Amino acid sequence: MRKEKKMLPDFEQSCSYFSQCGIELSYEAYEKFDIYAQFLVEYNEKVNLTAITEPTQILCKHFIDSACLLKYADIKPDSSLIDVGTGAGFPSVPLKILRPDLKITLLDSLNKRIDFLKQLCDKLEIDAEFIHGRAEDFSKMPEYREMYDISCARAVASLSTLSELCIPFVKVGGQFISMKGPTEDVSRGTNAIEILGGKIEEITDYSLFDEQRKIVTIRKISQTPIKYPRNSAQIKKKEL
Ligand code: SAM
Repeated sequence: MRKEKKMLPDFEQSCSYFSQCGIELSYEAYEKFDIYAQFLVEYNEKVNLTAITEPTQILCKHFIDSACLLKYADIKPDSSLIDVGTGAGFPSVPLKILRPDLKITLLDSLNKRIDFLKQLCDKLEIDAEFIHGRAEDFSKMPEYREMYDISCARAVASLSTLSELCIPFVKVGGQFISMKGPTEDVSRGTNAIEILGGKIEEITDYSLFDEQRKIVTIRKISQTPIKYPRNSAQIKKKEL
């Protein structure tokens, strides 16, 4: 696991970026983030994973941005968490690096990204479950429906669509946490959230270095009606 030549800014500098966002970084976690950054950039040459390839930008815009979820949401020890549309592992892989107690499931409809994630988690020596497929198909299956303490998503779709993709995975009493940009109109998601058994608990606006961000935390207060999620064509045609 040890690697002498680092891609990320040195440990002290990286700690300082994390601490500007109120997050502590151990040396062990730093080493894992460095392996992550290096593998991300290398793999990105053959498979499109991210437009961000400059090391400090990877640190701030992917790793620390993902880690902010730990700061602004209350995640109980040993929670099970499904990351819907995880792409190159954001936010769940940084969360797992910082909170090894979490049980993470990485779901994406693109198999090339799931292949990358399997190799990445192997390199990082972290446990994860991988699902290649569409959220709206898997959350209908009894082994995945209402089975998770938390579902989360960063940069996948509007809050209304995301609610339909994410809330069915969550146990009653659990949370759906959506990481959004500043322009997201949360009011457009409220109808869907209510229909799907959720209730907005908190909307947190914060700044990540010079950019504005939003985390919307939704509590699941009742079971999702069995007719949801609808199929992908219906979801695309009309938001709830
Ligand atoms: N969450 C990552 C991030 O923040 O960098 C990736 C965001 S990327 C813009 C959206 C990802 O969601 C893509 O990898 C895409 O394949 C996946 N995706 C979109 N719709 C999906 C669905 N219905 N089910 C599963 N994955 C989906």
